[in-house]
Amino acid sequence: MVRQTPRLGAHLSVAGGLHLAFDAARKVRCDAMQIFVKNQRQWSAPPLSPDAVRAFREHPQAARVAPVIAHASYLLNLASADRAARAKSLAALTDELQRCEALGVAGLVLHPGAAGDSDMSSAIRRIAVALNDVLAAVPDGRCAILLETTAGQGSAVGWRFEHLADLLAGVEAGDRVGACLDTCHLFAAGYDFRTADDYALMIAELDRLIGVRRVRCIHVNDSVKPLGSRVDRHAHIGEGEIGLAGFRHFVNDPRWADLPMILETPKGEDDQGRDYDALNLQRLRRLIRRSRTPVD
Ligand SMILES: [Zn+2]
Ligand SMILES: [Zn+2]
Repeated sequence: MVRQTPRLGAHLSVAGGLHLAFDAARKVRCDAMQIFVKNQRQWSAPPLSPDAVRAFREHPQAARVAPVIAHASYLLNLASADRAARAKSLAALTDELQRCEALGVAGLVLHPGAAGDSDMSSAIRRIAVALNDVLAAVPDGRCAILLETTAGQGSAVGWRFEHLADLLAGVEAGDRVGACLDTCHLFAAGYDFRTADDYALMIAELDRLIGVRRVRCIHVNDSVKPLGSRVDRHAHIGEGEIGLAGFRHFVNDPRWADLPMILETPKGEDDQGRDYDALNLQRLRRLIRRSRTPVD
């Protein structure tokens, strides 16, 4: 029996056209990829042209680089206590979800939001209501909204598994909403998984509160900042506070077999001119044990 391994990939630029990300993906040997489906720092964008959709869906690499995950704009805040601000975020997320549907993207990763001055539980309630509205506005959608675990900077929602559990429980179309783990965020939020025992404890807690089946994507980033710092700074794999051992647990866990694992590490080249994404992917692949024992 051939053992299944996660689909390793990276967040890639769509400069010059969405479909060009597929070429970049093959160049650094991605099995999967993540993209922005519109400029992530602007509220509005021109609609996708039929040509852009066709070039993306019919790209020769589309069958090999899969799944494609999208990351929602950083501007969105579904938790905002301000009704107008929340409505703006809701409209923008609906537009992003519609773009994902047109492109055949499997999941749209979303930072749940920031509570601001309000308490966490009312912030979570506002997000859940907004998510229900977004999903109702895109009926029969196939792209799942994936709520990402956050580092807990400022008033960010989502740095405890309990937050995500409450959010998921508050959404009616449960199968259209899942979770995205981010290794850097987990670690910065205080979840330690550097030893096999700590990793097992963390995943047991995740399973009890959220359910491992709800996890549809994992962002693999090392952390510049220490455990529990609540500061989100991504480092190259093995070069941060997590270290290679923490990633070994993730890439060898049969529960994540076939799941996209996406790098969001700094871009560029090392001093020997090697592409950082290619290098980080290679580091992760070397951690995968080539075991002949079948996975149950
Ligand atoms: Zn992430
Ligand atoms: Zn981050």
